Formats: sequence, structure tokens, C-alpha cells
Amino acid sequence: MALLEIFDPKAPPRPIGIDLGTTNSLVARVRDGRPLVIQDCNGKSLVPSVVHYDERGGVIVGEDAQRRAAEAPNDTIVSVKRFMGRGADDPETRRLGTYSFVPPTTPEEAKSVRFRVRDRVVSPVEVSAEILKVLRSNAEDELRTVGGAVITVPAYFNDGQRQATKDAGRLAGLDVLRILNEPTAAALAYGLEKQQNGLFAVYDLGGGTFDVTILLLDHGVFQVKSTGGDSALGGDDMDRLLADELATAFGLTEEVRKKPALVRVLLDLARATKHRLTDAETVTVPNPFVDAQASAATVTRDRFDVLVKPLLERTGKACRRAVRDAGVEVGELDGVILVGGSTRVPYVRTYVEALFGQAPLGDIDPDQVVALGAALQAHQLEGEGEKEEILLLDVLPLSLGIEVGGGVVDKILPRNTTIPTASKSVYTTQEDGQTGFVLHVVQGEREIASDCRSLATFTLAGIPPMAAGMARLEVTFRVDVDGLLTVEAREQTTGRVQHVDVKPSYGLDDETVEKMLLDALDHGEADLQLRRLLENRVEAGRLAKATQKAIVVDVDLLEAGEKETIEAALTALIASAAGEDAAKIKFRMDELDAATKGFAAARMNRAIATAIAGKDVGSIEATVEAALGIEEAHARHGAR
Ligand code: ADP
Ligand code: MG
Repeated sequence: MALLEIFDPKAPPRPIGIDLGTTNSLVARVRDGRPLVIQDCNGKSLVPSVVHYDERGGVIVGEDAQRRAAEAPNDTIVSVKRFMGRGADDPETRRLGTYSFVPPTTPEEAKSVRFRVRDRVVSPVEVSAEILKVLRSNAEDELRTVGGAVITVPAYFNDGQRQATKDAGRLAGLDVLRILNEPTAAALAYGLEKQQNGLFAVYDLGGGTFDVTILLLDHGVFQVKSTGGDSALGGDDMDRLLADELATAFGLTEEVRKKPALVRVLLDLARATKHRLTDAETVTVPNPFVDAQASAATVTRDRFDVLVKPLLERTGKACRRAVRDAGVEVGELDGVILVGGSTRVPYVRTYVEALFGQAPLGDIDPDQVVALGAALQAHQLEGEGEKEEILLLDVLPLSLGIEVGGGVVDKILPRNTTIPTASKSVYTTQEDGQTGFVLHVVQGEREIASDCRSLATFTLAGIPPMAAGMARLEVTFRVDVDGLLTVEAREQTTGRVQHVDVKPSYGLDDETVEKMLLDALDHGEADLQLRRLLENRVEAGRLAKATQKAIVVDVDLLEAGEKETIEAALTALIASAAGEDAAKIKFRMDELDAATKGFAAARMNRAIATAIAGKDVGSIEATVEAALGIEEAHARHGAR
């Protein structure tokens, strides 16, 4: 009797992890706390990352597409991952290109490569989405409803490439929970995060690419210390070397073995032989070519090792460089992880062991390890893992910032930032001779500090008196894995530092967070208007003060009647700042700016002339800055 599986109609959606590879892709999920790869109806888990567009407008993905690659190379996209996030005129695109690219006609189109396949034009995001759709459908066959997905990318992928991967996920109808680094996924599959701390090398030899990553595990969080590799080195190169070897053994002439159809057959034979050599010491390959001289070829593992040795030496060089770039020594590594189908080759394992001076971790199938780690991560993010583990890779529930001039909030870390994280901003003083800063740390989405949650207030004192706008206060917000916030304030000209530690989540339950978010939504528009008013008032005050001072100090530079015009503009500005109309204040500031144009130029000339008389360039700049009250581009409003 056949056993039929019956779905639980109330089964909740299950999260999945996806390894979207250059050569192969696969999907995994967690069952009973253990990650497992999902197979298609034929019991296969690896889906070749090949997409074929057929003459009837259909799309074929995987092995069937791979079979058509030889006869329809232009309509079959292989290794689409190499094109992800690349613009139409990216030099790399040209280098990789064997397809018929569609030249862009607008700047918008130039942002991405586009392929012509049959009578359609497709982007790498769309091609990748086809692969993801197949994986999603395989997952749905097993899980019925698929929840969120974690998709992996190489550690060196930039923002554009990550975004393209995310877009592909969305296009395939997936809820992308996170884009995760492949080496980190591999480390998670080995459960290395449980060690809390450590230094690891991830050696990933795939079909056409080699990547090495040095990861630092710090309190359960992985940081990429360095990456390296070769984007044109992998199992395909082994296949080519072995294909040549077979052709010689079969006695094929140089001329015959170059025929495209034969090349394909030889490469397929070579790959099969390579795979069999993983378990066997000797493989005998029957000769499929009638017009050849020998009836079979025999390849030993020793011979294969000799053939691939130069390839491995290239990986060794990249590894040594990555270790050096990470600023560490090989001996400091706590572990080496093998990733990628090509690390199944026994000689690769021997080579890696000798290279790093320790036996690598390779018990988990290197084809699957990335997808398995991604599944574990998805499982945790969907809140199905253990509670404390979730915290490890959490996000900030509410924005964190400080109160600046006028009682306005400057958000330093926006809500939903993944922790751990850090960010800094630079501020300056509002008043002449200000000798300290009061820092008010707040949490929430509202624009005005008094509407946010107050977390801490501290003072940085002992700054020598300077002109307003001259001090440089650098404020750094750092949130660690446990959600603990450290705020550090450093006055750059004096080097004075002060810091405070806060636990932003203290006394904060989901309900409060929810309420704070709703409040911010309710008050959004009004808050923004008030913020604009307060900011303009601060700016108006600064401008008025600086102008009043200047017309006293440099009174001799004023032309006849100029003083009166400026004073009239000043009075109007001060009056507007007392009112409630932000736009009016702005208008009056512009008016004053226009009225002081000639005067400002005269002051600038004087400042330069004075400074040049026997001073260095640094102090000239300082004098000019002081004279004009210029602020550095990144310096914002004065802290209270
Ligand atoms: P990618 O990360 O580029 O998608 P994979 O990790 O799936 O690539 O690796 C694919 C490569 O692994 C292919 O070159 C394939 O021939 C090779 N490979 C798979 N299994 C074996 C094996 N048993 N022995 C040697 N090479 C293998
Ligand atoms: Mg891979």
C-alpha cells in the first residue's frame, strides 16, 4: 500500500532558506529543529542556475534548460548571478558577455544589463526570479505554504547586487526576510555562532568561482574581515583540463576535438569522471567516439590531482592574501569551512588542510551547507528558534537620536536597523564661548524631543570657549548584540570624550512600541511642520546674532545706507522668528542674506588679508571660517 502524505490544513507558513548560486541553486527548510534540503519531484535538490526561453514563449529552468544551452546559447542564460546589479556599461558585463545585449535608450534602462532572448528582453533580476520561482514551487510542494525567505549572496556583493537579489526574490513572490552572506550561512550551518567568539576562514570553490572569506565571530555575531578569490576559477576549469586529458587518451586529433558538439560531450564526460573520482581511485571511461583510436581511457586520481594542482595553488594565493588583508595570521584561525561542490574533490581537502595547518570542517555536504544555514536563519527570524538566539540578529524597534537646537530630534540610528550597528554625526555649538554640550538621548519616531522617550541626558564639559560654529562634536551611537546602546561624544578640537550606556529596550514592551509608532503616524505631518518651524527659528537666531556682531566689528566696511538696509532686514527677521510661520522665517533669512551680500564679501577680503600677513594656511582657514560663520557641510544644527 502506498503511503500518501496528508497536509494539515491549518499548517502555518514555513520559512525557507535559499542558496541562489552561480552554477546551482537550492532551497532548504527546518524540520524538528534540523535544517534539510527540499527535493523536487524527482528527488533532486540541486537546480542548475540555467534559464532557457523557448520558441513558444515558455521558460525552462534547471537541467532541462542546461540541455538546451548548447544548441540555443543566446536564449539560454547561464551564470546569471554574474550580471546581478550590473549596469549596461559595466566593463565586467562586456567581459562576461556572450549574449545579445540590448543597448539602453534611457538612463533608467542603463542601470541594468538586458538580454534579448527570442522576441523578449529580460533583466538579470527577471532571470534570477525564474530560478527562485522553481525553488519556491518545490518548497510549496513540500510545505504547502511558504513563509519568509532568506536568500544568500557572496560576502563581496555590494548594495546594488544585494538589492537586485532582493528584487528577484520579490518578483518570484517571496517575502524576503533577509539577504545573508554565503560564508555566514555556512558558519551558521555548523553552529559556530554557539561558540560566541572565533576567527574562521570559509573556502568556497564552486562551478565557476572561488571565494574565500575571513569571518570574525564576536559575541555571536559574524563580521566579514576580508574577502578574496577569483571570479573565473572553479570546477569548470577542472572539467576543461580533464576533457583535454580524455581527448588525448581517446586519440582525438586537435582538429576533431575542437568541434563544438564534441567539446560539449567531452566536457560532460569529464565532469562525470571527475565526480566518480571523488569516491574511486581509478575510473575507466568508455570511448563514445567512433572515429577515435583508443576504445577507453583510464584516469587515476593521482593523475587528476596533478592536473588540478595549479588551480589549487591559485586558490592558495588568494587565501594567503585574504588572511593578510584581515590583519591576522593563519595560526590564529579557529576553523576552516569547506563550501561548494568542488571541495568534494579529495585533493582539495588535502590541499586546504596543508594550507591552513588544520583539518577543515567538511562533514556537512558542501553543496548544501549554504542553503542549510540560510534555512536556520529564516527559521530564527520567523521567531521559531530559541528566544535568545533571535535577539542576536535583531533590529531596532524604534529610532534612536539626540535632541538638537530648538528641541528637534536628529535621528542617528533609524528604526529597523539591524543590530549590532553604529553610526555617527557631527554637531557644532550654537553660542559664542559655549564651554559644554548637553546631550539628550531620545528614542522614538516623533520629530520633537519632548514627544519621544527620553533615555539619558549627559554633559560634555571643559571645552575652551570658541566662536559659535567652531567646535566639532562627534556623537557616536553604538548598539551591541544585546541591544545595549553606548553614546559617545567627542569634541574633535580638544579630544574631550564623554559617554553613557543605556538599555533602550528597558521597560519597553511590544504594546508601547506599537503605540509609539502609531503616534508618530498620527502626528506625522504636524510634527514635520513644527520641526521646520523650530529649525528655522534656530537658524534665524544664529544668523541674526552673527549679523549683529559683524555690523559692530566691521562697521567701517559698510557703505552709505547699507547699515540701515541690513538693520531693517534684521528687525523683520527677528519679528518673523517670534511668529509661527516657518516659510516666512525662511523668506526673511533669504532677504537678510541678500542685504548682506556686499558686506560679507568685503569682510571675507579683510579676513583673508589679515590672515595672510604671516600666518599658515590652517589658521587662514580658521579665521575665514570664523569671520563668515561657515559650517562644515556635515555639521548640523548646534546641540543644545
Ligand atoms: P556554485 O556555488 O557556483 O553554484 P556549486 O557549489 O554548486 O557551485 O558547485 C558546482 C561545482 O561542483 C561543479 O563544478 C561540479 O562539477 C562540482 N562538483 C559537484 N559534486 C562534485 C564531486 N563529487 N566531485 C567533484 N566536483 C563536484
Ligand atoms: Mg555557491
